[in-house]
Amino acid sequence: MLRSIEWHASRRFRFRMTVAGFAALSILGPHVVQAGCNAPVAVQVLGSGGPVSDDARASSGYLVWIDGEARLLIDAGGGVFLRFGEAKARFDTLDAIAITHLHADHVTDLAAILKSGFFSDRKRPLPIIGPTGSPAFPGMRAYMDALFDARRGAYRYLSGYLDGSGGLAKAEIAEISAKSEKPQKAFANAAFKLSSVGVMHGPVPALGYVVEVRGRKFAFSGDQGGDNPDFTAMIEGADILVMDHAVPEDAGPVEAALHDRPSEIGKLAKAAHVRKLVLSHNMARSLNVLPKNLATIAEHYTGPTVAADDLMCFEPEGDAKK
Ligand SMILES: [Zn+2]
Repeated sequence: MLRSIEWHASRRFRFRMTVAGFAALSILGPHVVQAGCNAPVAVQVLGSGGPVSDDARASSGYLVWIDGEARLLIDAGGGVFLRFGEAKARFDTLDAIAITHLHADHVTDLAAILKSGFFSDRKRPLPIIGPTGSPAFPGMRAYMDALFDARRGAYRYLSGYLDGSGGLAKAEIAEISAKSEKPQKAFANAAFKLSSVGVMHGPVPALGYVVEVRGRKFAFSGDQGGDNPDFTAMIEGADILVMDHAVPEDAGPVEAALHDRPSEIGKLAKAAHVRKLVLSHNMARSLNVLPKNLATIAEHYTGPTVAADDLMCFEPEGDAKK
């Protein structure tokens, strides 16, 4: 019975998507949707959408898998909590959580994921990395205080995340300057190294990240409009670049200050000699013109380009760089 309901729900979803004019999605072909990633090192897209629910996707969120364990979560937008579970990721195995910026579609499920940790056996601290603030945005530390401060926090009942009390895993909060022009070390352990640099995202303090693991490089643009050459340099030769694809080529100046146009995406991927380009943070306004956007990107970058869907896994190909 349940199976049949799910099947009908799925069929109705596809029908509705077609009627809604999301024909562009059909050119994505069959999606490799799976729980977890089997490759020794891989990136999984938990949320491939943007801030509007009409793209039928979770908002931003990504996992780095190493030997079958989810070790790093980057961003936690709405819906990522659900996808985290669907991916069979476990709170216990996370070595760190890194947030690109504090727009709601990148961070609203952070509290939900931390709450789930209450039910885990985790005792070791959990590094949480994010940008410094500005007058308009809190920094990572102030954001965590707003959530978990024992007296004023919205979820003060989980204040143990700030001080380690109540058996909760203490959050080791690290702020990286959003104005950093050169790559900063954000986190490192025996398994991987995470570096970060400030990127331009309108007035929003924002970071781009690169993960180096076993000779591979996974890059995450976060949201950026107008490229920081130091981000391009930091991700040089990346095996995978997960890039925000949120606007059409004819985007107005406000949108283009927040997100790269397709031509800028293509130029960035080419300049950084990226091996594979994964388009994420997809929005209806970019998906509706996906063939056109892909063609524009291909005028500059001729490597493999994939428009991501939720739960897709990407593994590096070819030899690791020496
Ligand atoms: Zn944003």
